[in-house]
Amino acid sequence: MKNEIKNLRISIIGAARSGIAAALLAARHGAKVLLSDSGNPALSDEILNKLRNYSIEIELNYHTEKVYDCDFIVASPGVPIDSEVLEKAISKGIKVYSELEFASWFAKGKIIAVTGTNGKTTTTALIHYILKNSGFKTFVGGNIGNAFSNFADQTDEQSITVLEVSSYQLDLIESFHPDVAIILNITPDHLERYNNNFSSYINSKFRVIKNLDEGDVFIYNKDDDNISRTLSRGKFLTQSFSAIDSSFATTFYMDGKIYVRESENRDFPDFTTEKVTLVVDTKQMLLRGIHNYYNSMAALLSSKFIGCDIEHIRNGLLTFQGVEHRLEVVRNLDGVLYVNDSKATNVRSTYYALKSFDSPIVLILGGREKGNDYSEIKTLVDEKVKLILAFGESKEKIEKYFGSITKVIVCETLEEVVQQAKINSLPGDVVLFSPACKSFDMFNNFEQRGKKFKELVNQL
Ligand code: ADP
Repeated sequence: MKNEIKNLRISIIGAARSGIAAALLAARHGAKVLLSDSGNPALSDEILNKLRNYSIEIELNYHTEKVYDCDFIVASPGVPIDSEVLEKAISKGIKVYSELEFASWFAKGKIIAVTGTNGKTTTTALIHYILKNSGFKTFVGGNIGNAFSNFADQTDEQSITVLEVSSYQLDLIESFHPDVAIILNITPDHLERYNNNFSSYINSKFRVIKNLDEGDVFIYNKDDDNISRTLSRGKFLTQSFSAIDSSFATTFYMDGKIYVRESENRDFPDFTTEKVTLVVDTKQMLLRGIHNYYNSMAALLSSKFIGCDIEHIRNGLLTFQGVEHRLEVVRNLDGVLYVNDSKATNVRSTYYALKSFDSPIVLILGGREKGNDYSEIKTLVDEKVKLILAFGESKEKIEKYFGSITKVIVCETLEEVVQQAKINSLPGDVVLFSPACKSFDMFNNFEQRGKKFKELVNQL
């Protein structure tokens, strides 16, 4: 049993959230742990005390040779495989596992793993919401909020654990075995970790099905060519969702409604004779936007596979309010809807945000970016956006690109942005804060940026 780690020496690389959680998990189970980080992350007194209480050795600012004096290494998702410390460990023949792999050795019950380029957090939260409200004993974590290592050893045979998993975590798995694996979509993001090699990134996402077996299910987006192209079948069940092709997907979106097929036949369901059930009319859902209907279909299939009935799934889909900073409604002021989509740190996300509204849009764009290709949203801006408010490092580039398509006002601060939004909007408009850029030019992260936006809007 892999989880018998008593007295083993384990080096944990990276002292952020997941690394700390892995160190504590290892120590709880009797391992001798070294937590090593080449940087100097701010560790609170509470965390430091906890680590010390478990006699975890801490090494900050650099990795010493002690790192390699171990039975194996657990790497935090923030540490790339090609970092010097991991490459050296691998060359010495030391096994390196991701925190996801390590935590999974202690987990019982069923696991639903959600991966993809976009929509992971929303889908993970939605599945958890549906199952929890249907009476299942659930845990949720991974990339989202709580690290898996914090709770893996508290699960039991009845537990359903919903995990958001990143490709970084999947790169270093060996035996991680979800019962349900979901790939939402694959687009060329985060390629810097894959030497700009898109197929390595795709392969990395597909590692989520590496250990699937009979009795497990792989749920994927049929409309995504990058997924369909790479698809391979195994002993496991394969189910798909689509908003384009209603004839061959297990669940599909058509004319604003989401349907599911009841077929039990795994590979070649008879789509002409089987039962098709209407699950929800998306107009009645609180989540909006076609991207969220894709996320909803993934959530529907996974919950159904776990044994949740359609009635509970329908309830969950109808009442789920979404996740903070993702098309989050801040307030309706004088007939103008203010929406916080600070999580939109790339053009693709802003594309989906624009597609989600039919009213005239005042769009707020800007921040830090490297080579954003705005052509992806050019047509939508032309059709729907009456004004762009540009701010942050990329404001001039935005003005230059969109100036000939729609009116653009360049603002120096977010305060000015919000004031201009108020002055320039009319009842029926949507003020959409979906920056298409990263936040690091002015904020610590997109959460801080979104909170600031909400605060300013609430002060109007
Ligand atoms: P992740 O955790 O993968 O970053 P989130 O659920 O936090 O995903 O959503 C991030 C952003 O990605 C959202 O603001 C939205 O604009 C976009 N998005 C969400 N779901 C999808 C999807 N299924 N396809 C494409 N884009 C999506």
